[in-house]
Amino acid sequence: MELTWRRHSACSGLDPAIFYPAPDEEATVAKMVCTACSVREMWLEFALHGRDKEGVWGGATEKERRRMLRQRRRAS
Ligand code: SF4
Repeated sequence: MELTWRRHSACSGLDPAIFYPAPDEEATVAKMVCTACSVREMWLEFALHGRDKEGVWGGATEKERRRMLRQRRRAS
């Protein structure tokens, strides 16, 4: 059974390796795919709560997600 979000994801059918670039500077392609994704915001929140996920999730690299979490902590 396919999960609902998969039907709406822009990365469906793409090579998952795109989303695990090393180093982060090579994440441009993955980020472009995520930008066009209708579930990007949900996916980003999922990744932010998971905190230990590697790769590009919701259009953000692991480094960028760590920065977002720091900014949220400072703002709260
Ligand atoms: S936000 Fe990016 S990684 Fe997440 S489902 Fe969409 S295209 Fe895939």
